[in-house]
Amino acid sequence: MKNLLRLIGSLIPTSCILCNRYQTETTCGQCLQQLSQQSLNKNPCCTCCALELLITAEGKISEHDQRCDQCVAKLPYFDLSLSMARYEGLLKTAVHQLKYHRRLAYAMGLANLWNSLMKKPLAQLPPAYLLPVPLSRQKLRERGFNQCLEIARHLTLPNHLKLLPHALRRRHSNLSQISANRKDRQQALNGLFYFERHYIERLAGQSVIVFDDVMTTGSTLNEIAKVLKSHGVSHVSNWVVLRTPRQLVDV
Ligand SMILES: [Zn+2]
Ligand SMILES: [Zn+2]
Repeated sequence: MKNLLRLIGSLIPTSCILCNRYQTETTCGQCLQQLSQQSLNKNPCCTCCALELLITAEGKISEHDQRCDQCVAKLPYFDLSLSMARYEGLLKTAVHQLKYHRRLAYAMGLANLWNSLMKKPLAQLPPAYLLPVPLSRQKLRERGFNQCLEIARHLTLPNHLKLLPHALRRRHSNLSQISANRKDRQQALNGLFYFERHYIERLAGQSVIVFDDVMTTGSTLNEIAKVLKSHGVSHVSNWVVLRTPRQLVDV
């Protein structure tokens, strides 16, 4: 039955989530090739927060030890971040289609892109639990789905990486109305995330990957990492589909 559905699916044209041309995959070959050339894992990025590092005119990395100035000045609670591409252009539009126009097919399209572009950098990972960034119950009711979970459930994960969709919870706040100022945001985020009780023991001493659709200032992911570490999680990585380009990050 599954094979039959796959066969039928391959015969029905679908539109590329980036250029909208009709063909058989969620992203057409041309867009995929273009993206693989621009993929962030080909550029030197801060190992900690995935921000692109500054390159001097001589082609040298001008920041220290593979970390951006910001992470050197104040080390985040998370240990590592990986991002597929920049939050701009057609990819930014694709995320907006998913989040604000409820085009759920874009979740699978973005996951398929992740599966194609990130296979190599993620091949040798140690065992870990994958936790999508949650929405509050109120926000979930408004939107109808959590975009991070919808993308995460279509990721091709090896057996030693386990998706835990409901371990991390979020209380409601009016964060979107709070100014983008880093300090204000950090304060507003305080106490927003918590663990479901019965997961606390299971995650202590483990490695955790937090999965988010977009990383901008990194404040949300930093707050989550703070909560995870305070419960004894030993290593926190972030997997982020899109990373806001350097000039737009509030530094
Ligand atoms: Zn395309
Ligand atoms: Zn950094």
